[in-house]
Parts: sequence; C-alpha cells; structure tokens
Amino acid sequence: MDINLSTEDLSFRDAVRAFLNEALTDDIREGARLTPAVRTSAVIARRWAKILAEKGWLCHNWPSEYGGPGWNTLQKYIFEFECAMAGTPSLNNMGIRMVGPVVMKYGTEEQKATVLPSIVKDEFAWCQGYSEPSSGSDLASLQTPAVPDGDDYIVNGTKIWTTGAHTADKIFCLVRTSTEGKKQEGISFLLFDMNLPGITVKPILMFSGDHELNQVFFDDVRVPQANRVGPENKGWTVAKYLLEFERGGISYTPPVKAGLEKLKEISRIETAGSGGKLVDDPDFRRDLAKLETEITANEMSEKRVMSALSLGQNPGAASSMFKLRGSELQQRMLEMTMKAIGNYANVYQPDAFIPGNNVDPIAPNHAVTATAKYFNQRAATIYAGSSEVQRNIIAKHVLGL
Ligand SMILES: Cc1cc2nc3c(=O)[nH]c(=O)nc-3n(C[C@H](O)[C@H](O)[C@H](O)COP(=O)(O)OP(=O)(O)OC[C@H]3O[C@@H](n4cnc5c(N)ncnc54)[C@H](O)[C@@H]3O)c2cc1C
Repeated sequence: MDINLSTEDLSFRDAVRAFLNEALTDDIREGARLTPAVRTSAVIARRWAKILAEKGWLCHNWPSEYGGPGWNTLQKYIFEFECAMAGTPSLNNMGIRMVGPVVMKYGTEEQKATVLPSIVKDEFAWCQGYSEPSSGSDLASLQTPAVPDGDDYIVNGTKIWTTGAHTADKIFCLVRTSTEGKKQEGISFLLFDMNLPGITVKPILMFSGDHELNQVFFDDVRVPQANRVGPENKGWTVAKYLLEFERGGISYTPPVKAGLEKLKEISRIETAGSGGKLVDDPDFRRDLAKLETEITANEMSEKRVMSALSLGQNPGAASSMFKLRGSELQQRMLEMTMKAIGNYANVYQPDAFIPGNNVDPIAPNHAVTATAKYFNQRAATIYAGSSEVQRNIIAKHVLGL
C-alpha cells in the first residue's frame, strides 16, 4: 500500500473536507464536541447518520453492491481520518460495522434484501445481545434459551452491558438452542425487534455519569425462526466472524491522532508546573513524542492490514492486535490530556455537556469533557473483549503459541 497521497487521493480528501465543512452544522458540531461518552447523544448521532446516508457515505466500508460508496482502502482511511479531525458525531455503528458484514456472509437472500438496505438508510438503531451476567470473556457459556415453538422461538433470560439498548430498535442476539455437546455447538444467532412483547430494558449508569449501558430481560419473547442468521446451533461461527469486525472493522488510529492534535493544542495553552507553556516542558515533550511515535507505528500496521483487507480478506486475528493497541493508546492519550489540563480535571459539570444548556462551564472549552472521556474510556480495554483476552487470541492464533 502506498501511504503517500496521490493527486487523486488529495482531491478525494478535499472533497471529503468540503462536504464535512458544509454538512456539519454548528449544533451538530457542538453536540459532538460536548460528548463525554463513546457515542454522541442518540438524537445528534441519528441526525448525522441520516446526512451521511443521504450522501451515500454512511456504510463507507461496504462494497458498492450492497450500498457502500465503493471506496478503496486508502479512501476509507482518509474519510475516517477527516471525520475524526473534523470532530463528527460518533455513531451507533453496530448495524454498519457488525450486522452488515454478518448478513452479507451468512444471511439468506431475504435477509440481505431487507436488512442491508435498512442499514444503508439508517432506518434502525441496533444493539448487541452477547454478554450475560455469568458469560463475558467466556462468552460460549451463555445460557439465554430459545426453544422452538411452531415457526418461532420462545426466548427467556437476560443480557447485560447492552450498549444503547434503551434507544435501539433492534438487537442481534446470541441464544442457546441446544445443551448437547460442546457449549459452542448449541448457540444460534437471532435478529429481532426491541419492541416485542416480553422485552424489558433497565439502565446501568457508568461512573463517568453516562447512560450507555443496560440490562435487557426476555420474558417469553416470541421470535420468528426466519430471523435466525446461519443454521441452528452454528451461531458461534457467525458470532466470532462478527467479533472480527467489532474489533477490527475500522481503524483505531484516526480518533487517537485527532485526540493527539488536540492535546498538542492544549499544551500550547496550558502552563507547566515549572512555569512557561506546557509545550516547552521537557518531560511533557518527551512523553508526547513517545506517544506520537507509538501512534504512528500503530497507524502503519493498521494500514498494512487494511491493504490486505482491500484484497477481499476479513480482518482475522489481527483485529485483536489493533483492538489491543488502539484501546491502550486511546487511554494513554486521554491520560496525558488529563495531566495537561491540571486542576480542570477535577471539575465535573455534566449539565455543561447538554447542548443549549445555560450553565457556564468552569473549565475552558478544551477541558470540559476531558475527565468524563477519560473515565468513560477506561472501558475500552474491557468491551469487545478485554485486553487479556485479546492477548490470549494473539498468542494462540497470530503467534501460534
Ligand atoms: C462499556 C461497555 C460496553 C459494553 N457493551 C456491550 C454490548 O453492547 N453488548 C454486549 O454483549 N456486551 C457488552 N459489554 C460486555 C463486554 O463484552 C464484557 O464486559 C467483556 O467481554 C468482559 O466480560 P466480563 O465483564 O464478564 O468480565 P470477565 O469475563 O468476568 O472478566 C473479568 C476479568 O478476568 C479477565 N479474564 C477473563 N478470562 C480470562 C482468560 N481466559 N485469560 C486471562 N484473563 C481473563 C478479564 O480480562 C477481566 O480482567 C460491554 C462492556 C463494557 C464495559
């Protein structure tokens, strides 16, 4: 992969920039800037998703036959980078990034014809029903039974840590359809509506103050068997394929690089303990240079693997490498940002995060959400599989240990 931008790449980048400049209205920008959490508020995020959908860029990673823009790998990367630098809202991309690739590979023709266009048009918000109270890292031990009844399954049980379940229209869910044999062999993969009778969603508040997480309860929920993706009891294969895209379907570097640029800006404003600007402080400069070097190295590796993806391969176990390094670098960048803003890190004003609120933030613009983001992103090394689990996968499937 040639990582220098050609004339065509530069004009593509300029076209993306021009679009973002025009489409990102002040209120959408403000909503995204004040996001303390992983995702921008559902209202702002859905507005942004609709704008991208109208432009045909929402599913920017998808092949054109299913409604993607048909971009090459470098163009996808440029788009993600420009979005991160412009501070676009972070989307609920579970449909785009997870359901889409799974339906493309394992869905029936009918599922492809209904589910994929609905994602391209952003008709529904999705949530992920994988984890259960006793099944996280050991996901295959999941219990939620789905018992056949005529053309349906009757689903009971509970899912936990379900991000965005409170605003989701649909869920992709792992259920147990057999208790015979190995635990991986009795799992099926279902898609269903969140408004079916028997579904209850209860909030779980994070210590950053955000409501992203939920516990979802199923009480005799009737789901058509036609909503199963892949054969009965073969859902583990589908689930693992989805996880490759959850961990590796996008580049981790653009948001971290955008954060690094903001950190440099902050260092030109904030004062070092020794007096003078932080940017001139030798200790800070050394840490910043080290972080930047590691981010750049990660970017090169990501581009190398993305180049392989453009040849039609799926992310494979390399997605674990990127998830591991990407989430850790993100946390390091936020940790340095906390250090850089000094006493402002102690200020907690959740009201200031609500666009249009008349609370005057005590912290300057660059520091308003830094602490909440830092706390929120502690979860990055847990969700989508913890760092320890990623290391196990790398040891076994990449290094062959
Ligand atoms: C913010 C957030 C959002 C989430 N969103 C969703 C969602 O939308 N949908 C969903 O289904 N799930 C979601 N999850 C759940 C997430 O996938 C699980 O939290 C994760 O897989 C870890 O499982 P656990 O919490 O049960 O921890 P455990 O599996 O109980 O792990 C506890 C500790 O033991 C370590 N550990 C466990 N097994 C091993 C091993 N074999 N080797 C070494 N160390 C090990 C882990 O690394 C961890 O440190 C989310 C979690 C968070 C924090």
